[in-house]
Amino acid sequence: MTTRPITILGATGSIGRSTLDLVGRNPDKYRCVALTANSNVVELAEAARKFRPEVAVVAEPTAYGALKEALAGTGIEAAAGPDAVVEAAERPAEWVMSAIVGAAGLRPTLKAAERGATVALANKESLVCAGDIVTRAANDSGGRLLPVDSEHNAIHQVFDYQRPERVARVILTASGGPFRERSRLEMAQVTREQALSHPVWSMGAKISIDSATLMNKGLELIEAHHLFPVSVDQLDVLVHPQSVVHSLVEYVDGSVLAQLGTPDMRTPIAYTLAWPDRIETPSKRLDLAEIGKLTFEAPDPERFPALNLAWSALRAGEGAPAVLNAANEVAVQAFLDGRIGFLDIAAIVAEVLDRLGAPKIGCLAEVMAADAEARATAEAAIAARNSAAPAVRIGAAVAAGKR
Ligand code: NAD
Ligand code: MG
Repeated sequence: MTTRPITILGATGSIGRSTLDLVGRNPDKYRCVALTANSNVVELAEAARKFRPEVAVVAEPTAYGALKEALAGTGIEAAAGPDAVVEAAERPAEWVMSAIVGAAGLRPTLKAAERGATVALANKESLVCAGDIVTRAANDSGGRLLPVDSEHNAIHQVFDYQRPERVARVILTASGGPFRERSRLEMAQVTREQALSHPVWSMGAKISIDSATLMNKGLELIEAHHLFPVSVDQLDVLVHPQSVVHSLVEYVDGSVLAQLGTPDMRTPIAYTLAWPDRIETPSKRLDLAEIGKLTFEAPDPERFPALNLAWSALRAGEGAPAVLNAANEVAVQAFLDGRIGFLDIAAIVAEVLDRLGAPKIGCLAEVMAADAEARATAEAAIAARNSAAPAVRIGAAVAAGKR
């Protein structure tokens, strides 16, 4: 059997590590072409020594010397800088895990899609910013996007691509995050640590905060709109705290198909690695008798305004989702840095969307321009907030567009 050449973008993150775990369990099936990271040289070099890629790349240019030194004598090439990450995606690996966090993942993901690779897509932000461009690139090249996000992976498993017109609704489940039962008043006071401790999933910092605000589900609605041939009106969100039912597809005859499993990202990652075959994973098996009870509830847009912001951006189209995403990335980082409160995250995004609306985007350069302008506008909004009285700052109302 020949080994399949693969590349992992974001190899040192939560998804990247889980992917390497599966690759390590199947050394006869997969071999690494490139591994990339942002700046974590120690972990990247350790992974490179173990998995022997042709090249290891750090996005942070100043980390080049340390990486080169850490790989001395191994024969593994070292490279650095954002362009080197894009070049890594360009190398002829058949399968590419796109697991960089944020819009930083867009250019390398697009490059992999353009050259016809099978892209296992965890980096939802690239579809949110430039969904039309990325999906067109994959279609034109004969490449393929396989969703890693557990909800979209579930939908991929139960969606009838032969008869998409027989699908009535696509329902994304959401755990509801750590503040599912908190009031707005309580949420105004939550700390970084509380927001980072997700009740079910163990994930990177940015997506953990997005899960706490429910912006993650908003980004996933936009992601779903690009991945599946359904209209915006056919998309729905259902809160399901146990995260066992990973999403559902309702058909015109009333049948509802769902994919279930324990909350372990190695299951959806394995699905994309082996597709259309399946491989074993060490994920805990689902024992429904042990779990006993699964619960469901409607999301509360009053307490979680980020969801309606995403609906509004999705309906506005053009560059609105890119603006939403960039403003959110800046606001989440500001919250993690202790510069704004938890409720300010959605408020900043609302403010930036109000100011910039839906700029026209037809090409990558226009996406990048919308992204840059939204980042600058968000930084200015944060600075303005911090020069205002704290009483005004905390709990600012959000003018969220209703569905
Ligand atoms: P993480 O923060 O744990 O890891 C991010 C990875 O990207 C790291 O390897 C980091 O070095 C790299 N990186 C960060 N900034 C970079 C930059 N500017 N340039 C190049 N590389 C950079 O994040 P994660 O939780 O693994 O999530 C990765 C992506 O997968 C996100 O888009 C997230 O929304 C999505 N996702 C994650 C999960 C999960 O369970 N963790 C589930 C669904 C979707
Ligand atoms: Mg998800």
